[in-house]
Amino acid sequence: MLKRHRYSYGIFWLIAIFLVPLPFLQTLSNGLPIIYQSEFRAIYYGIIAYTWMLFAIYLSTKPKWLDRLVGLPEMYMVHGMLSIAAIVLAYLHKSGTVSTGWIKTTGDWAFDLFLGLMIYSLIFMAGWLTNRVPLLKKIKRSLEKFFKHELSIWIHRLNIVAVVLVFIHVQLISYVTAIKPFIYLFDAVSALVLGLYLFSKFVKPLTYEQGMLISNRTVADNVQELTIRLPRSSHIKLLAGDYVFMAFPDSSGLKEMHPFSIANTPDENREIVLLIRGDGDFTRKLADVPLESRVNIDGGYGRYQAFLNDQPSDVNIVILAGGIGVTPLLSTIADNLNRNMTIFYTAHRQDDLLYLDKFDQWQQRDNINGTIQVGRFNDDQVLNNLPKDWTKNTVFLIGGPSSMMHHWNRFLKKHGAGNGQIYFEEFSW
Ligand SMILES: Cc1cc2nc3c(=O)[nH]c(=O)nc-3n(C[C@H](O)[C@H](O)[C@H](O)COP(=O)(O)OP(=O)(O)OC[C@H]3O[C@@H](n4cnc5c(N)ncnc54)[C@H](O)[C@@H]3O)c2cc1C
Repeated sequence: MLKRHRYSYGIFWLIAIFLVPLPFLQTLSNGLPIIYQSEFRAIYYGIIAYTWMLFAIYLSTKPKWLDRLVGLPEMYMVHGMLSIAAIVLAYLHKSGTVSTGWIKTTGDWAFDLFLGLMIYSLIFMAGWLTNRVPLLKKIKRSLEKFFKHELSIWIHRLNIVAVVLVFIHVQLISYVTAIKPFIYLFDAVSALVLGLYLFSKFVKPLTYEQGMLISNRTVADNVQELTIRLPRSSHIKLLAGDYVFMAFPDSSGLKEMHPFSIANTPDENREIVLLIRGDGDFTRKLADVPLESRVNIDGGYGRYQAFLNDQPSDVNIVILAGGIGVTPLLSTIADNLNRNMTIFYTAHRQDDLLYLDKFDQWQQRDNINGTIQVGRFNDDQVLNNLPKDWTKNTVFLIGGPSSMMHHWNRFLKKHGAGNGQIYFEEFSW
């Protein structure tokens, strides 16, 4: 039966909010001296805030197993929202407790640092938010010339310093360190998360696979097609529609890993095809990268195919693709050619439509229905061409500009689609 709801995402939220702080609260509440009773609630706020921060840091390590379950974009959203909620709780903690000396100083420094970084990150690092709030997006766009993404990443990492300050803050409170089960748990989990974070930043990069650039051609105005050959020993497991993180370690300005979707089916030739639009410093330099350059690859990430695999194999697939957002869907279509599919593909200009020859071939098939046009589809055009009884037998894969994806998401839900019937991955987090 068609899955109309996405339970995994809801369960993930519940675990993050309730289950993660629970052992800490349990062990702490068993040992807090009664003379601090008036501060108990504020103390609990502080510990919940800290555990949420630790969880947010863990999510920033991009755990692959969680990506396949809930998706990295959703994980980044939880990462952002939990951090904001943690700062609110940290404020309640600060205003509901009394402290002096270094206990107060470390707590205040941590709070001020968190707050400043949160404001900065809400503009520059929270694609899930800026894509929904046009004013924030405008501010981000105008300031991004100075605050480049790489700089923002480094500024964002100062959150670790703030977490370390909180760690010290707790170690200085003698009645808390006296509660042995709590402090052992607190120290062990803090060390574990810090270890995982350091591993992901310093050790994991050493494990990135090294491929080789075997083709680099311009396929449309400002769109580069890169083909990368993976090493024979490659352990990378790719599904259709996945994205990989990619960088050129020998080319200046191209050494930081950036995410790009694969446009081909994960095939036995160990080749990855990427279609990349020149949007900024990194992507505009790609046309000049010489053949046979070494490429670092980490992946695969993404849930387009995992989402399809979760559904019965006889459901219809509707593809809504716009602009460069078609990339993961090209791969998904190519890997699911036997399924009943209705494709809507649009771009701003005729020259921006990619791989039209492939679409021509696909449309020859009886089970594939495609409409390709320049300029956006209107609502009726899509609604009138959906499969019969689509609310009961159809899933939707969307790829395109954020505003387009949210439009179709809202529109389809308004007309009866369930949450679990629609899947899309944003191109910015
Ligand atoms: C899951 C996913 C899949 C993507 N697939 C494609 C694709 O197939 N084709 C394509 O052309 N583009 C794709 N993108 C977008 C691509 O990653 C960005 O356009 C590129 O990283 C921009 O880098 P830049 O330095 O050229 O531009 P900048 O001007 O630095 O950045 C432009 C915007 O891209 C985002 N961005 C920049 N660097 C990163 C980074 N390291 N990680 C995450 N976001 C970043 C930021 O939101 C920024 O506002 C994808 C993005 C995501 C998240």
